[in-house]
Amino acid sequence: MLLGCIADDLTGATDLALMLTRHGMRTVQVMGVPGADTPIDGVDAVVVALKSRTNPAEEAIRWSLESAETLLAGGARQLFFKYCSTFDSTDRGNIGPVAEALLEKVGGEIALVCPAFPANRRTVYLGHLFAGDVPLDESPMKDHPLTPMRDSNLVRVLQRQTRLRVGLVPYSVVDQGADAIRAALARAATGGMRFAVTDAVSDRHLVNMGAAATDHALVTGGSGVAMGLPDNFARKGLLKKTEPGWRMSAAKGRALIVSGSCSEATRGQVRAAEAAGIPSFKVDPLAVAQGRLAATDIASWAARQPASRPVLVYSSDEPANVRAVQTELGREAAGALVERELAATAMALVEKGFTRLIVAGGETSGAVVGALGVRAIEIGPEIDPGVPWTRGLDGRGLVLALKSGNFGAPDFFLKAWDLLE
Ligand code: ADP
Repeated sequence: MLLGCIADDLTGATDLALMLTRHGMRTVQVMGVPGADTPIDGVDAVVVALKSRTNPAEEAIRWSLESAETLLAGGARQLFFKYCSTFDSTDRGNIGPVAEALLEKVGGEIALVCPAFPANRRTVYLGHLFAGDVPLDESPMKDHPLTPMRDSNLVRVLQRQTRLRVGLVPYSVVDQGADAIRAALARAATGGMRFAVTDAVSDRHLVNMGAAATDHALVTGGSGVAMGLPDNFARKGLLKKTEPGWRMSAAKGRALIVSGSCSEATRGQVRAAEAAGIPSFKVDPLAVAQGRLAATDIASWAARQPASRPVLVYSSDEPANVRAVQTELGREAAGALVERELAATAMALVEKGFTRLIVAGGETSGAVVGALGVRAIEIGPEIDPGVPWTRGLDGRGLVLALKSGNFGAPDFFLKAWDLLE
């Protein structure tokens, strides 16, 4: 193993595993802190998918350090801490506390911080994160159910989360290339900075910052930063690149879409699927809370739909409706309740012969994969930027597309199936 990665959520992990696969690294993604029996031998990179974005920081730190331990013992020469391209976090963490713990663990001098992913229109300029055409705090992320982002200045956001000092490597430096970035990082480290938010508005910037971090013990960022890392190993003669596949074979079986993301992109995908006539079931969290609706009811409904088409089960809703549910049930309780219900539905349907699943939402994906008992996956073809098909490594042949809420084109739920055979 060359690169050991720790991602703070499941879809983010997949996005990263895809990035590494596309750039020539044989990559396996494992769910949760790896144990002694986790299949991490014989690959170039391992991505550990944690669910550590919104749990208590102490727990996120513990899981991350335990994962780091296993990755380093497995031979990892560099660690990568992956978070969301919208820097999903609160003032309590968990990006700052986890990055800090990992940096201390590997004895790193300074670590890059860059969530940019220009292909998905996430860019960083003068430390400010943009989502599409607007600063993060004006984007739909300001209304995220769990991590509302109300400040776009990442130096400020991260500094509120860590005791270590946070600096900036601005666009004017980044645009000059890898050597200039490397020198700026070294200067920042000498000046007492331990983290450096680094601007990027194009893939070239990401590749160059990856090259600049070749000798860093820890790199942090969105999956974009990982673009430059495989070449570092290839240049050192450590990596022989492999070509990724274009289609993925799946076990025979029915297709299911489960959506717990309330992001604007996902709500659009739900509307497009309904408009295309895909049978859909909208889960009302209050009905679940009051015991009027159970996963078994939803699964029975799904099983009755024509087998020739996918079935959509979703709780995705408008911000005002989500707020109303949260006022009634509490923010975290509402989230957990919906995640449990969707996961139980998915499990019931896999038992009924569904083998091809799209899951929308990071937390939702974590809950579904946990319920299905999928421990490790391999990466298949990319459906839209950052979202591949994946296949469980346990012999059941289950294929899963785990989609971060914000990702994917409007027709994602319709076209994804074409890449399976
Ligand atoms: P994303 O990738 O868009 O952030 P997630 O699945 O990570 O999506 O997060 C969405 C959260 O919102 C989950 O905890 C989910 O259970 C919760 N949720 C989904 N639908 C509703 C709803 N209708 N009301 C309240 N919370 C909801």
